[in-house]
Amino acid sequence: MANPSLLILPGDGIGPEVMTEVERVIAWFGEKRGLAFDVSTDLVGGAAYDKHGTPLSDATMAAAQDADAVLLGAVGGPAYDDLDFSLKPERGLLRLRKEMDLFSNLRPAQCFDALADFSSLKKDIVAGLDIMIVRELTSGVYFGEPRGIQDDNEGGRVGVNTQRYTTNEIRRVARSAFELARRRSNKVCSMEKANVMESGILWREEVQWVHDNEYPDVELSHMYADNGAMQLVRAPKQFDVIVTDNLFGDILSDCAAMLTGSLGMLPSASLGAPMENGRPKALYEPVHGSAPDIAGQGKANPCACVLSFAMALRYSFDQGDEAARLEGAVQKVLADGVRTADLMQSGDAEPVSTTDMGDAILAALDDSL
Ligand code: NAD
Repeated sequence: MANPSLLILPGDGIGPEVMTEVERVIAWFGEKRGLAFDVSTDLVGGAAYDKHGTPLSDATMAAAQDADAVLLGAVGGPAYDDLDFSLKPERGLLRLRKEMDLFSNLRPAQCFDALADFSSLKKDIVAGLDIMIVRELTSGVYFGEPRGIQDDNEGGRVGVNTQRYTTNEIRRVARSAFELARRRSNKVCSMEKANVMESGILWREEVQWVHDNEYPDVELSHMYADNGAMQLVRAPKQFDVIVTDNLFGDILSDCAAMLTGSLGMLPSASLGAPMENGRPKALYEPVHGSAPDIAGQGKANPCACVLSFAMALRYSFDQGDEAARLEGAVQKVLADGVRTADLMQSGDAEPVSTTDMGDAILAALDDSL
């Protein structure tokens, strides 16, 4: 059987720097665990614009559709700020998400013990935290019609956006959350504003329908999203999987992410419908951007991108044990006090470089054998 295929799109700024370390990790799994991938690399964002005059060429889009999984670094940078909206680096990423129809965005918020002091919350509230926010990514108020700014005929203007969800859109993301919960602690909390929004009532009813008909073994609760925000900062460990719409998910996932400290540690996955081989369409990427302020200096923390590959192992390639091995290696490196500059606190020793962090992760992987 052919090896599974991975399309790597390093992108801009620190993207290529952190991706270099991930490529070493991928090679390690090929050599030491017999998990070989057919890896190809291509351009996205500003790098693609520089070469092709577009942030994502049709050929790269087609390669992404064919790949078993896509791994992306980051896009963007000041050199592209004045480009027309349609040519901006971010449009490349949006095109990937849209054409691959990646409707389920997975954002883990996991607190590594060694970094518990980085949270703005008290250590005992976040230590050991491990929750997953599933955000609907392709519908809702960011896409609903009508939208726009018009004259209101009274001398002023009116801005309009429309929150709109269909049965199918809600059910498919709910299924994705229930599937995840079965691999974790079997608990889903669905968040909306059914008290004030009809789309919220529909959301609640459809999530309940999917539960009752397809996942009765998973524990389901419902919560208003404003209460959800409060509970996330009051007692985040009460949650396992949270499923919510595009707008609330945007806000709640950033809030949950910051419970854990640093942007350099946060991975993500965006999943779509299953392909013919049963694997979901999938794009894995760190939450952070291209960090132009530190690009090219060897200072970037590669952990978020490495942990995104761990998510690929788990969700695209059904290698949960190997994903846990990689996450364990990152955990060990942190516990040993290895820190890139973003993870430093006053009084700490010298920060390590991006490559040093990659070396330490590879050494910890060797120790895991
Ligand atoms: P950013 O995430 O790039 O950086 C924010 C801050 O965090 C910076 O100080 C940066 O140095 C630091 N940081 C980020 N990742 C780090 C890492 N791995 N290691 C160490 N420090 C890290 O956000 P920004 O500055 O708002 O945006 C910069 C560019 O990235 C913009 O062009 C923006 O549009 C783009 N962006 C892209 C994505 C993406 O590709 N998914 C996401 C967000 C922003």
